[in-house]
Amino acid sequence: MTPSLSETTADATLVYLGLGSNLADPVGQIKSARHAIAQIPGVEELACSSLYRSLPMGPQDQPDYINAVMAISTRLSPSALLHYLQAIEKAHGRERKGQRWGARTLDVDILLYGGQSIDSPDLIVPHPGIAERSFVLLPLSEIAPQLVIPGKGTVIDLLVNCPLLGLQRLD
Ligand code: ATP
Ligand code: CA
Ligand code: CA
Repeated sequence: MTPSLSETTADATLVYLGLGSNLADPVGQIKSARHAIAQIPGVEELACSSLYRSLPMGPQDQPDYINAVMAISTRLSPSALLHYLQAIEKAHGRERKGQRWGARTLDVDILLYGGQSIDSPDLIVPHPGIAERSFVLLPLSEIAPQLVIPGKGTVIDLLVNCPLLGLQRLD
C-alpha cells in the first residue's frame, strides 16, 4: 500500500529503530523484521547492527532477548512509520497481554526520528529508555557511536556509564 501525501514529509529523515524478540526463533524474527522494515514503502535501510543477546528487563521468568538496531531513511511521518512497524509486529505474531515488558515475538521501537522531540499519547521520541539500555546503546555504537541523544550525550559516552548486564554479541 502506498502511503498518502499526508503521511509523508517533504524531506527524508534519518531514523533509528530498536528491535527485540524473545519468542519463537528470536534470531529468525529479527532477521525477518529487518527485511520487512526495509520493504516498507518510503523506507530505505541505511545500516543494521550485529545481533545481541540480552537478559530480560522486568519479569525475569522469560527467555533471553535478541536485539539489534537499524538506521533507516524515510519520508514517512512518525505516526505513519509507527503504524507500519506495529503492523510488522503483528505479522510476526506479537500479542499484547498487558504485562509490561513481557515476552514477545517482536518489538520495534522508534528510538530517534531525526532531531525531533515528540510527546503524543502513542509516540514518545526520543525513546525514553535509550540512555539506560545497553542492548540499545551497544548496537547503536556499532553504527553511530557519535550520535547525540538529545539532552543525554553521545552514544559512546552513554555506553561507558551503562552496565552491560550480560549483553553478548552473537557471532
Ligand atoms: P518500552 O517502550 O519501555 O521499550 P515496550 O516496547 O515493551 O516498552 P510496548 O508494549 O511495545 O512497550 O508499547 C506500548 C506503546 O508504546 C505502543 O502502543 C506505542 O504507542 C507506544 N510508544 C511510545 N513511544 C514509542 C516509540 N518511540 N516507539 C514505539 N512505540 C512507542
Ligand atoms: Ca521496547
Ligand atoms: Ca515497543
